[in-house]
Amino acid sequence: ATMPPLLSAIANAGRHGVLVKSAVVMERLGQVDTVALDKTGTLTEGSPHVTDVRPLRRSGLDEDELLALAAAAEHPSEHPLARAVVDAARERGLGLPATEDFTSAPGIGVKAVVGGRTVAVGAPARLLDDAEHPSAAIAENLEESGRTAVLVMVDGLPAGILGIADRLRPDAAATVASLTKLTGTAPTLLTGDNARAAAHLAAEAGIDDVRAGLLPQDKLSAVKEMEGAGRKVMVVGDGVNDAPALAAAHMGIAMGRAGSDLALETADAVIVRDELAAVPATVALSRRARELVV
Ligand code: ADP
Ligand code: MG
Repeated sequence: ATMPPLLSAIANAGRHGVLVKSAVVMERLGQVDTVALDKTGTLTEGSPHVTDVRPLRRSGLDEDELLALAAAAEHPSEHPLARAVVDAARERGLGLPATEDFTSAPGIGVKAVVGGRTVAVGAPARLLDDAEHPSAAIAENLEESGRTAVLVMVDGLPAGILGIADRLRPDAAATVASLTKLTGTAPTLLTGDNARAAAHLAAEAGIDDVRAGLLPQDKLSAVKEMEGAGRKVMVVGDGVNDAPALAAAHMGIAMGRAGSDLALETADAVIVRDELAAVPATVALSRRARELVV
């Protein structure tokens, strides 16, 4: 028997490195008219590295001590920023103290007890009560240059800032352009990161519509709002923070290589080979298969 068009399209998508989970998904892909892209790990390579280690003088910590505490707290996390912090500590040959009572809040950061001290690492705007705190100015400065700044709190007090940089994927701008052409609508960027870093990256990728500082439920509301306006939205993301939006959207696509388990399970399709350009290619495959089905 000849293979039904949607099944051949699934096989074809597989050759492009995209795992499409069902024939229904293969069909729905071609209906998408609006795309929402996550930033960290989706539009960027997701292999960020620590560029700045800035202990606050009053913390009494030096660079290595600050980095070791942060890395110990981040150690259990699967977030790309967490891996950057742990790698930076390893590169400096720092031993990581044992970590207890780890918790993480998607879109905010992590918290753990490290050698008897409570260490929190995460978004400065979410962890600081006082927006005028000197650490906020250090963070803003790093963010102006497109970096992500994370605050390290020790026993409830700001102890220092880490600057983290990630590169735009080489195929990001071309993918944004082909998605715009295919769907007739320019993609939107949905990110939990700060507005300054997000604007910097969006400009490089050719995206104008940027929504930053979003918690997982804010990403979900943004998608619901677009679908409420009659759009068929495709969300492309990699994180635990993207899972609610991936689940609610007409179509959810997860980045497979560095994606969180939750994102991979929740998504309708997974980009297995780490190429963003596979997204428009798969939409085009669906369109062609649908023409054959009808
Ligand atoms: P994105 O939407 O761009 O993928 P996330 O929602 O995952 O970003 O993260 C948003 C922000 O929350 C980060 O920029 C960072 O400030 C903070 N954050 C989240 N998880 C962590 C973590 N494990 N370590 C440090 N900061 C974190
Ligand atoms: Mg992400």
